[in-house]
Amino acid sequence: MFMPVGTLASVKGVSQDVLDELGVEILLANTYHLFLRPGVETVRQIGGLHRFMSWDRAILTDSGGFQVFSLNDLRKVSEEGVAFRSHLDGSSHFLSPEKATEVQIGLGADIIMAFDECTEYPADCARVRASMELTARWAERCKSYFEAYKYEVSWTSTAAELRSAGRPRAAVPTRSGASPRLDGAEPRPHTEITQALFGIVQGGMDTELRRESAARTIDVGFAGYAIGGLSVGEPRELTRDIVLSTLEHLPSDQPRYLMGVGTPEEIAQYAQSGVDMMDCVLPTRAARHGLLFTSEGKVSIKQARYAQDDRALDPACVCRVCQRYSRAYLRHLYAANELLAQVLNTVHNLHFYLTTMRTVRAWIRAGDATGAGAR
Ligand SMILES: [Zn+2]
Repeated sequence: MFMPVGTLASVKGVSQDVLDELGVEILLANTYHLFLRPGVETVRQIGGLHRFMSWDRAILTDSGGFQVFSLNDLRKVSEEGVAFRSHLDGSSHFLSPEKATEVQIGLGADIIMAFDECTEYPADCARVRASMELTARWAERCKSYFEAYKYEVSWTSTAAELRSAGRPRAAVPTRSGASPRLDGAEPRPHTEITQALFGIVQGGMDTELRRESAARTIDVGFAGYAIGGLSVGEPRELTRDIVLSTLEHLPSDQPRYLMGVGTPEEIAQYAQSGVDMMDCVLPTRAARHGLLFTSEGKVSIKQARYAQDDRALDPACVCRVCQRYSRAYLRHLYAANELLAQVLNTVHNLHFYLTTMRTVRAWIRAGDATGAGAR
């Protein structure tokens, strides 16, 4: 599956009813951004992200690790966690494995991520090893905290209300034999369901360190496994080599999630290689810059050549944008800096990505994971 990015509990420019219509089944929201604004207490008191943003389908939150590393030049990493200043107002904050897990339990996504250190690229071997080992130690702390507090998830009562109101929503059942609460109390009936915690494999661009990271993460034991620390500036071929070699070390009967990748061609290739989940800002961010993905290749709608072009953006696309509007109109909206340009471009690009993944799923169901039969 492909997860559109809804950084601040919003896919920029696209309302939830349109996301429903597009067939989005799961969104990614960013813990770092929501932690700073509106803050976890606001979301928790309203009953979690699903209720807050009126989204009944699934949500995944990242741990905040990647944003702390990518948005903060003044961060200070220690064994305990990461001290950083808000990119909004310069205020001081601290995220640790425990804190990031607590925040994600408060936000109440269906799938939450272990707090990791995203190793920079390039980095020397000693640095990559130290970073990978820190992530492995943090993974254990995330798991311990989660096991102790997973029944505190903010939608425990809200989920029951939603179900009784006939609005089934995604929820991940707890595995049997789940740890009891630390206080010895029996889980309350409405806490039978909780979140799924995924671990993250690091190890930079070193296949041996990736193998070791995978083994150590699997030892801790998670509901699913992510490959992190890629798309950080390395060449595309290197990304692919690391993904393929790391996949071999991850259990194929659990979700395997490749974080922050990629183009439509790449997501199709990775899915065929055994990746189950992907997210990327590319379709939404590119749309806001007038870059559109079509069955005929990329279209930069800002170009003057489209000023009089009365054809649909993508004649092969059945999205609401291509069914209704011309390239000329989309080009005009973009050139005039109309808000509608960003909305329509984003809707089309998301439709294109989701259609790509639906096609891959059809290949897989047909037993043709290579997609060769469909070409
Ligand atoms: Zn379209």
